[in-house]
Amino acid sequence: MDRIKELARFTQKIKTEFVKGVKPNKLIQKLKRKDIGVVVDIRWWSVYPTYFAPKNMGDLLAAHNFKYIRYRELGNPSKLRHKAGENFELAKELYLDYIIKDFKARQIFIELFKKIRLKKNYCLICYCQTLDPKLCHRFWLKEALVNAKRLTLGFEGNFVLDLKPIPMIQEVI
Ligand SMILES: [Zn+2]
Repeated sequence: MDRIKELARFTQKIKTEFVKGVKPNKLIQKLKRKDIGVVVDIRWWSVYPTYFAPKNMGDLLAAHNFKYIRYRELGNPSKLRHKAGENFELAKELYLDYIIKDFKARQIFIELFKKIRLKKNYCLICYCQTLDPKLCHRFWLKEALVNAKRLTLGFEGNFVLDLKPIPMIQEVI
């Protein structure tokens, strides 16, 4: 397969969703519509309705045959969010920097990256109620994963710190 196609296929395999304000049955519907196989929970925070507590979310998804993985380390740590405040460009920079420099986060990032080889679709979910790629770490993480893929395919560019390597990723609904 040529590498442009391979990159496109990899990119398409990573979908995103937010869960704030979404009821469980609606989430399941959305995941089915996107043909998701694996849900990757990247929430750092522990503020959410009981039905979306990680244990309950895991049970809910398992009951509908989705695989569930929780990677809290790929959430956006509150200390970084507080530091950035409303400056989302800085927030993104701090988050990407955290992913490559924090030992544990980097390990988990690589683990996730390696998983996205299967035929399944993956869905990164977090709590942020936004569809704007500039505002939420699920888009930044997707971008970092795609960048890592670009590098392994031999495209030029820096690792995840290349802040504007590809057009903003739009959420496909
Ligand atoms: Zn988010």
